[in-house]
Order: sequence, then structure tokens, then C-alpha cells
Amino acid sequence: MKARPKLVILGGGFSGLRLLFHLHRLMDITLVDPRTTSLVKPMLVEVALTGKPVSHVRFELAPTVRRHGARLIHGAALHIDADRRTVTVAGGEVLSYDYLAIVTGAEKDYGAVPGLEEFGYSVCDDEHAPRLWRALENFTGGPIVTGAASSAWGTRVAAPKLLAACEGPIGEVAFMAHHELATRDVSHSITVFSPAEIFFEDVGAPIHDVVGPLLSEVGVEVHTSKVISDVGADHVSFVDGSQLESSLSVIIPPYAGPEVVRVSGLGDGAGFLPVDEQMRFLDDPHIFGAGDATALSMPKLGHIAVHQADLAAAAIREEVTGSGEVPPYCPEVFCIMNRGGVNATLILSDSLYGGTRDLTLNGPIAHLMKWSFDSWSFHTRGHLPPEAFQRALELVLR
Ligand SMILES: Cc1cc2nc3c(=O)[nH]c(=O)nc-3n(C[C@H](O)[C@H](O)[C@H](O)COP(=O)(O)OP(=O)(O)OC[C@H]3O[C@@H](n4cnc5c(N)ncnc54)[C@H](O)[C@@H]3O)c2cc1C
Repeated sequence: MKARPKLVILGGGFSGLRLLFHLHRLMDITLVDPRTTSLVKPMLVEVALTGKPVSHVRFELAPTVRRHGARLIHGAALHIDADRRTVTVAGGEVLSYDYLAIVTGAEKDYGAVPGLEEFGYSVCDDEHAPRLWRALENFTGGPIVTGAASSAWGTRVAAPKLLAACEGPIGEVAFMAHHELATRDVSHSITVFSPAEIFFEDVGAPIHDVVGPLLSEVGVEVHTSKVISDVGADHVSFVDGSQLESSLSVIIPPYAGPEVVRVSGLGDGAGFLPVDEQMRFLDDPHIFGAGDATALSMPKLGHIAVHQADLAAAAIREEVTGSGEVPPYCPEVFCIMNRGGVNATLILSDSLYGGTRDLTLNGPIAHLMKWSFDSWSFHTRGHLPPEAFQRALELVLR
């Protein structure tokens, strides 16, 4: 029997599992990840702002990988030798591949903002999110400042260059912190800052016209064109010399390209993997990427990561089987922002990519949808609701 082509997947997040689900019957797959669990990152805000246990937002990778007939290696990929088609993994094992998928996500560079690790809080992973919840539980009142640091991007691919990688969680922090503290009758003020000229620069004016008044309604102030310089015990400072008083600073750090891409010399100027619209690395046809690790993914959203993984899988399938075709790259911003209690705002927009859709849905139905998407992903160990759900949603929004 002919040997199946070897695929090594670096990362068991949104894109890595999607590739596994698509290609496990076709290829001999090894999935590498330094974590033992896959993290449903969109649920982290609930850990940080409602006290949901972290065990409810992550699931073991081993059973999922095993069930799909693949091998799991627990360890970080340290170096890729594209000429030899090998990956060296922590512990020293060297894996050879016919195809490599780099789906490691991006790194969050906490060290780039002085004082952030010491005085600031974040929602970006399963260590920082429970720490923020503990601080919020003990919060006795005062000003809260939240926003994203600006990130740098390379120039090899024509993706939109947003100053903030992903601002949806900042909206959730503002709304949900207000909801939590108002419920407990704790006096507070909340200020959101954005490095961009407008908060949520990745969507169009019709969405700003909905979200702006919702923020004002709960007394959230928004400061734009604010690039963070450092975090102190009682303030957040900006490069323009201004400062905001803060008793609780919740910051999304700058995003950086994955270390394994950078040290292997595969990254663009900012260390992200430059790929074409079929998700193939520009400099090597055997390497694909998807999700936050790629230069094309902008903003850094799970919805885009999954779309990109679908395209990468289709391109690999087409090459291996000589049949099928790769759908066009059609990114869109799709996210559901929890607003505390049973309220949420769903955002669907493609204006960043030249489209005309800027749609929102507000209220408990949006909240129910967010809950359903996240729960589906958690309980099915990384699967998403069937495509039909998304199409039905678009009919509702039209
Ligand atoms: C708080 C928060 C809320 C969010 N909310 C939303 C939302 O509502 N909707 C939405 O669409 N998106 C949301 N996002 C963004 C979304 O979570 C990311 O875009 C998505 O997780 C990216 O998927 P990925 O597969 O590229 O990377 P990840 O999900 O980050 O997975 C990468 C995997 O690679 C592994 N890895 C890292 N380094 C290595 C290495 N060297 N070798 C091997 N493996 C490695 C990691 O351990 C991880 O398991 C949110 C993000 C955050 C932080």
C-alpha cells in the first residue's frame, strides 16, 4: 500500500484542529503543541469577568488527536529546516514532513510594555484571565482603564495594517466589568483607549453608530489615537505624554510573530508567516499557515483562522489527490461581544476588505448565539457549528 503523505501540524488551536478534522483520512498526521489542552480563547473573557472556571474553556488535546488517528507530540516546535523538510521539537525529536502547517498562533509580547506584567492585567490566556477575575472580585472601586497596545506588521502581504490586533475583547472587558461592578454596587469609571483613530477600526461606520451609543449608555469613555507606553500601580501612560489614572488596567499586549517562525528565518519583517490566498508560504510550497501566525490574518480572529485553515486544507487536498478546488479567500470580521448578563452584540463586517456588509444584532439572541458557538466548540472538542448555522444567521441579519 502506498504510504500516505506526512503532514506535521504545529499547534492545536482553532486552525490546527480544523486542519486535523479536514485531512486526517488523507494524511499521516503528527500534531505538535507545548500545551496538553486546547484553549477556547473567546471564552476567556468569561473566566476573567464572570469567574467561569478555566476547566470550562479548555479541553484535553490527546483524545481528540487520537480519535482522528494522528500522533500528538507534547512539546514546542523549536526550529524548522525548510530545505530538509524537518522540524525539531523540544526534547530533540526531529520530525520529517511532506507538508508542514504552521498554526502556532501569535505571541503576546507582555514584556514590550513596561509595568504590564507587574501592574497590569490581561484576558489573553488561561493564566492571566483567572488572575483578572481575582482582582475584580477584590476590586473596591476606582477608575478602570482598558485597551490594546499597538502591534507592528510586516509588508510582504497585502493585508490591512490595523494598529490593534484584536479589539473585540476590550469591548467585552468594558461592558462586562461595568455589569459585574454595577451589580455589586461598586463605584467605578471605565475608560477604553485605542491606538487607532477609531475604536474598532476593523469595521465600518454603521457598526460604530451602534456600538458607540451602547458604550456611552453605560458611561464608558473612549480615547483614541492612544499608544500605550507603560503601566504603573495607579496609572496608564501613553507615548503622547498623557496619562490616565487607573486602579485596574486591563491591557491586550502587542502581538508578535511566533518564535519558531522567527528563529527559522521564515517570518516577514515582523516575524509573521507571509502566505498567499491559498495559505501557502510565499517562499516554500511545502509549508502552509493559517490563523494568527500568518501575516494575512488581520484582524487576528478565530473566525478568520478557521476560514484560512479551510483554504489550507483544500489546497493540500487538491495537491495530494489531484482533485477538488480551493475556494476564494473571503475574510470577514465576525464576532459576538458579550455585554454582561444576557446581552451581547454580534458584529458581521467585510468593509475592511472592500465589501459593503456592516451588520449588528443586539440583545439576548446574540448572547444565546455566542453561548451556543462557544459551547459547541468546547463540547465537540474543537468543532464548529455546521456551516448551515452561519448561513441561517446571515439570512436573519439581512
Ligand atoms: C480574550 C480573547 C477573546 C477572543 N474572542 C474572539 C471571538 O469572540 N471571536 C473570534 O473569532 N476570535 C476571538 N479571539 C481571537 C481568537 O481566539 C484567535 O484568533 C484564534 O485563537 C487564533 O487561532 P490559531 O489557531 O491561529 O491560534 P491559537 O488558537 O492561538 O492556537 C495556537 C496553538 O499553537 C500552539 N503553539 C504555540 N507555539 C507553538 C510551537 N512553537 N510549537 C507547537 N505549537 C505551538 C499553542 O499552544 C496553541 O495551542 C479572541 C482572542 C482572545 C485572546
